[in-house]
Amino acid sequence: MAEFSLDLNEDQLQIQKWVHDFAETVIRPAGHEWDEREETPWPIIEEAAKIGLYSFDFISQAFFDESGLLLAIAAEELAWGDAGIGLAILGSTLGLAGIASNGTPEQLIEWGPQCFGTPDKVQLAAFAVSEPDAGSDVSSLRTRAVYDEAKDEWVLNGTKTWITNGGIADIHVVVASVEPDLGSRGQASFIIPPGTPGLSQGQKFQKMGIRASHTAEVVLDDVRVPGRLLLGGKEKLDERIARAKEGKRTSSQAAMATFEASRPAVGAQALGIARAAYEYALDYAKERKAFGRAIIENQAIAFKLADMKTRIDASRLLVWRASWMARNGKQFTSGEGSMSKLFAGETAVHVTEEAIQIMGGYGYIREHPVERWHRDSKIFTIFEGTSEIQRLVIARAISGVHVK
Ligand SMILES: Cc1cc2nc3c(=O)[nH]c(=O)nc-3n(C[C@H](O)[C@H](O)[C@H](O)COP(=O)(O)OP(=O)(O)OC[C@H]3O[C@@H](n4cnc5c(N)ncnc54)[C@H](O)[C@@H]3O)c2cc1C
Repeated sequence: MAEFSLDLNEDQLQIQKWVHDFAETVIRPAGHEWDEREETPWPIIEEAAKIGLYSFDFISQAFFDESGLLLAIAAEELAWGDAGIGLAILGSTLGLAGIASNGTPEQLIEWGPQCFGTPDKVQLAAFAVSEPDAGSDVSSLRTRAVYDEAKDEWVLNGTKTWITNGGIADIHVVVASVEPDLGSRGQASFIIPPGTPGLSQGQKFQKMGIRASHTAEVVLDDVRVPGRLLLGGKEKLDERIARAKEGKRTSSQAAMATFEASRPAVGAQALGIARAAYEYALDYAKERKAFGRAIIENQAIAFKLADMKTRIDASRLLVWRASWMARNGKQFTSGEGSMSKLFAGETAVHVTEEAIQIMGGYGYIREHPVERWHRDSKIFTIFEGTSEIQRLVIARAISGVHVK
């Protein structure tokens, strides 16, 4: 009988400490500045690249970790430092996940490293699915990809919105509709290499939180890419479309496959914010005196902290379970990936709000980081599938009913 254990192994503990040290000494002290500047923190991404943390090698190592926990562990620590900077470092991983989940091994080998570049020339990647009229409803994408057989090129037209690293990325992985009548089953992903004519950045959005992470529109105006940049290859796409036209089952489509794989890591980031706020509030509650005693001596405050810690630990268990299942080929039969992101996201919003409450007026001002962490946390109930969409995935999985 295999033993059950939640202990991390030596390698995992070492990496956790390595990422934590970087988060503590480099990311955390810079959080306020980059939130105010609302710009991509290039110097910090470069520092992360120098130590090998922002690199294809590290992310591959994390993907291949046998337990599947390593990416979640690193993501938690980075977001514990600062969620906006953490996402600036992790954003390229979503582009990479788009390639890994839909591309051939050759495509991954060629393009994976380019999502990160080198310490001397850092590069970014983006994964572009959402559109102004298609966020949750991924099946109604309007961006079209049309095959020009004479030139063996794909021609892409459309506008993507809310794209992390959109327009500033070197590699854009774009999901487009090849057969609009087939909805999401007629979609495919394409790699758009650096400097491709026709791809440009539209509006850059000003946000409530995670402001160190760049979010913008991406405009595709007659963007031409060689046939080999269709992820997975044309033969596979043609087969899938033929099956869909015959009404047969097809493998899960481009965007969904990527999101299912990335949800636990997104949950882990939410977990990192929640843990940061909990620790900060716990220290504060022991120090702050009111009515002649530390505020933590009041059950009203101590019980809040007890609940915060309980929800944080429960989030971690869900995130680790989903990460382990995904790596070990276990099917998400009850929407376990969605559960992890749903619960951790909502926990982050709840815990950061409670941290503000525990700190009273001091929680509400920018001198302390908890108001920023609360602003940062909110995105985790929205992107990579809103909380409502996660519940929909779970409800459908457990019931077999196409709940609407
Ligand atoms: C900062 C940021 C970064 C992002 N990064 C990326 C990125 O890198 N790549 C990318 O492709 N996208 C990205 N997104 C887009 C994000 O994934 C979408 O915003 C999200 O999926 C929600 O889509 P929407 O905004 O169009 O909301 P809508 O789909 O319009 O939803 C509006 C509301 O209706 C609810 N709703 C919709 N349909 C249903 C339903 N069937 N049942 C119940 N409730 C429903 C939603 O839950 C939500 O509460 C990002 C967004 C933000 C804000």
